[in-house]
Amino acid sequence: MHKKEMIVTFLGTAAANAFPEAFCKCNNCEQARLLGGFSLRKRSSLLVNDDLIIDLNPDIMAASQIHGCSLTNVSHCLQTHPHADHLDLSHLLSRSPDYGTIGAPVLNFYASVQTLQRASETFERDLAGYSLLHPGAESRLNLKIHQIEPLQPFTFENYRVTGFPANHAPEMGALLYSVESNGRAIFYGTDTAALFEETWQAFHQYQMLFDLVILDHTYGPNQSGSDHLSAHQVIEHAQRMRHEGLLKRSARVFATHIAHEGNPAHPELVEFASQNGYEIAYDGLVLEI
Ligand SMILES: [Zn+2]
Ligand SMILES: [Zn+2]
Ligand SMILES: [Zn+2]
Repeated sequence: MHKKEMIVTFLGTAAANAFPEAFCKCNNCEQARLLGGFSLRKRSSLLVNDDLIIDLNPDIMAASQIHGCSLTNVSHCLQTHPHADHLDLSHLLSRSPDYGTIGAPVLNFYASVQTLQRASETFERDLAGYSLLHPGAESRLNLKIHQIEPLQPFTFENYRVTGFPANHAPEMGALLYSVESNGRAIFYGTDTAALFEETWQAFHQYQMLFDLVILDHTYGPNQSGSDHLSAHQVIEHAQRMRHEGLLKRSARVFATHIAHEGNPAHPELVEFASQNGYEIAYDGLVLEI
């Protein structure tokens, strides 16, 4: 056994609707309600160790409670993009001293220029009456904003992070992230359609060698991908990564951002994935890598 150097917790694994979609009577949603447990999915976000979160999404409060997973040490957020299932800006207010939150460290918030612009407009219009980028906003919100560029690695604490352009919401500068720490490397790949060739080239340019790959699985086994990946595209992406030497021998590939429309409830999806060389994440899953 090698030493475990990174701990990853899935706070949510559903696409924008959540799964079951609370208003939906489709077979998949009804089956998920019946089974409960791992078939119940909140919107996707990921906690790395106890101090780094990917996406400040609308369900992280519920996830923290349900999975007994405190976010009190979170001091870094990598934001993929500003779609509402990934970014709930009210957290920036509720975690601030003005709202009575005590002891929260400064939150370093990393996002593309387009995501920051969009978030800033939404925050001002809907929540606070002032812009996130306004001088004074950072101290008031106990926040430090970092504008990041795709394919420009940056470091903080023990982490090295690279943002890769997502094939998704181009006007919002959507990013996918690699996170490296203590000789371990993970790739968080949602939301995206088929990865750009530019992204594959960048994996090689930066000599990425992943222990864990997490991919968008919005569409199920009998659907084709379009603006997001499908089950068969996840299989193809995993195969290509392995073929091109981007995965360690022991690497694991997990699906997340799972939509109710084409994906069966957890046990049946696990069955499909296990026959096809990947795994299905579930809410509260903790991986030590
Ligand atoms: Zn999404
Ligand atoms: Zn449904
Ligand atoms: Zn999205």
